[in-house]
Amino acid sequence: RVVVVGSANVDVVVEVPHHPRDGETVLGGDVRRTPGGKGANQAVAATRGGGAETTFVGAVGRDESAELLLSSLERAAVRTDLVDRVDAATGTALITVAPDGGNAIAVAPGANSHVRVDAARSARIAEADVVLLQLEIPVDVVRSAAAAKRPDGRVVLNAAPSRRLPAGVWSLVDILVVNETEAADLAGGLPGPTTTGTGLDDTTVDPAALVEALLDRVPAVVVTLGAEGSLVAERGKRPLAIPALPVRAVDTTGAGDTYCGVLAAALSRGASLDDAARLATAAGALAVTCPGAQDAIPTAADVAALAAG
Ligand code: ADP
Repeated sequence: RVVVVGSANVDVVVEVPHHPRDGETVLGGDVRRTPGGKGANQAVAATRGGGAETTFVGAVGRDESAELLLSSLERAAVRTDLVDRVDAATGTALITVAPDGGNAIAVAPGANSHVRVDAARSARIAEADVVLLQLEIPVDVVRSAAAAKRPDGRVVLNAAPSRRLPAGVWSLVDILVVNETEAADLAGGLPGPTTTGTGLDDTTVDPAALVEALLDRVPAVVVTLGAEGSLVAERGKRPLAIPALPVRAVDTTGAGDTYCGVLAAALSRGASLDDAARLATAAGALAVTCPGAQDAIPTAADVAALAAG
């Protein structure tokens, strides 16, 4: 079982010839409104893409966007009984997608600022094998959710978007999942000798050096590297580089979320971190071949077929 505590956003997407620069207006294609938000995406990925029984703990408003999000979660068979309806606008992400599939995103958190971990939510978390968290909700809620896990449960933190984390959160994390930018942000912000003189502020940082620095803080780290694949590292083991699978990328929105959700689902079934990451890699590859975030998340059968070659 997996519990995801996090954000749900409606993605308002426009395809553009290039992302607007400071002060620039760019004319794009037709607007699309699709279900997204890192938390909700990862919950759908754990269920549809990973085949795990998954609860999503989050908050939405009382607007049309909320209906879009709840129906997408329910279509994927995510449990939504612990999603709060609050008096705030449903979270909204404004996304531009460039011809290479890359995206730029601004988020209005709205209802996501009201996500809470009360007794009922703590109890559900305590039943889970894996608690999957991101940083699109208040950090103290992330900390409460992690603290509610059962002793043999695992906390997977996707530290996205980049934010400073208090020590009280780090100590609760079993597996950290970050992309290259987030890894560099976190490693650069780590105190202690590992970050001095290692060139971690350079823009061309060796991912292996980042992993090394982050393993000082958490027992296991996964760094996703887009089309370059991912790097999986556990304390006391040699890091494993998993290449991405070759696909034609049309929209990379949600690739990282799909990876995280499928990883958590595989871990909840007892897979090793390496094997979970292989499945997640196949899922990430399939996700970039379709437009949208939740709409692009593949089925567990398709993920397994691609991973098996
Ligand atoms: P994020 O969206 O968080 O920045 P990444 O872009 O690193 O995350 O993507 C997550 C994973 O999805 C990668 O590790 C890789 O396995 C897969 N992936 C992403 N982009 C591609 C691509 N262009 N081709 C194949 N796989 C990809």
